[in-house]
Amino acid sequence: MSEMGTDVKVVVPYTPSNIERCMCPQCPVQAGSVCVQEGIGNLKNEMKSSGEGAAPEPQKVPGVYCSAGSAACRDLNPNKECICKTCVVWGEYCLQNATPMMYFCNNGKAT
Ligand code: SF4
Ligand code: SF4
Repeated sequence: MSEMGTDVKVVVPYTPSNIERCMCPQCPVQAGSVCVQEGIGNLKNEMKSSGEGAAPEPQKVPGVYCSAGSAACRDLNPNKECICKTCVVWGEYCLQNATPMMYFCNNGKAT
């Protein structure tokens, strides 16, 4: 668990556990993206072929942008609502204190 505090740098680890708990695959911002839907379809296989405890390359994962940075897919709709606040990863790493604190797919990773 990360510590609370204004001078603590937020770093969300890029781990299989955080990929699995990420809500991005269910987010309306990504719902209309053909590129993302393809990534979601392939994700289970990508996770499996990465092997135990390892994560696929970020450009193959349609989520955990708070950790990996902006989305590789360019057809997202930022006018829809970000659901990061409903995510356990968001709560666990106190991302309300991060910059940016939402829309990581567009704004880059949490710091
Ligand atoms: S906070 Fe947002 S980007 Fe980070 S894991 Fe959760 S849903 Fe994904
Ligand atoms: S970072 Fe937020 S806006 Fe972007 S896909 Fe994830 S939940 Fe949706």
